Amino acid sequence: MNALEVSDLSFAYGPREALKQMNFSLAPGRFAALLGPNGAGKSTLIALLTRLYDVQRGEIRVGGHSLQHSPRPALQQLGVVFQQSTLDLDLSVEQNLRYHLALHGLSRREGMARIDAELARQQLTERRHERVRDLNGGHRRRVEIARALLHEPRLLLLDEPSVGLDPASRQALGRHIRQLCDEQGISVLWTTHLLDEVQPCDDLLIVHQGRLVASGRAEAVSQEHG
Ligand code: ADP
Ligand code: MG
Repeated sequence: MNALEVSDLSFAYGPREALKQMNFSLAPGRFAALLGPNGAGKSTLIALLTRLYDVQRGEIRVGGHSLQHSPRPALQQLGVVFQQSTLDLDLSVEQNLRYHLALHGLSRREGMARIDAELARQQLTERRHERVRDLNGGHRRRVEIARALLHEPRLLLLDEPSVGLDPASRQALGRHIRQLCDEQGISVLWTTHLLDEVQPCDDLLIVHQGRLVASGRAEAVSQEHG
């Protein structure tokens, strides 16, 4: 079963069309890069996938569940890192994560074990009690990723996660996220406006002015379209 299916999805802000008849699917364990310039519609798509906006036309299915008709099981499978950070700067790393656990209704015991595991995986254990305000951009991103993974989603959405990071942190983040796909079978949708963040074996979706203009294995898309 596909981790994500987007069918005939269109969306408009008043008279302004932002997404036009988008169709694509994402298989389990795949890393998909959604590539497009500013204004292409990437964040609008993320807003629809996370149900910040209601679908106007078309359909979205997450793990086979319709986002419109069965939002609860659909959203349960999603982890999200939005383009703008949503961490509370005045809380510690651990407090930010605990708040998220509470929102997902996880017990404290189970939740704390997951926090330990995610912090270790993101190499953040030593930062646990630091205030987020005192962390650099790369560490803040990793806290957001740890938080997005706490409830063990099957599909991770990352909206321009590398913006504001130095080249070394960008590369490390890309490696880390692809490893999640390979080792845990999580599917990832990673938006970017930078071609150099796409690797040959990734799935690639190219958006331009709200339209999906090319899709497939990145190396195949590159051969076909140059
Ligand atoms: P991207 O994330 O690829 O930069 P967006 O999804 O943010 O693109 O924007 C897609 C288009 O929709 C752009 O033309 C943008 O100006 C427009 N847009 C985005 N958000 C709004 C909004 N809240 N109201 C009106 N137009 C919007
Ligand atoms: Mg955006």
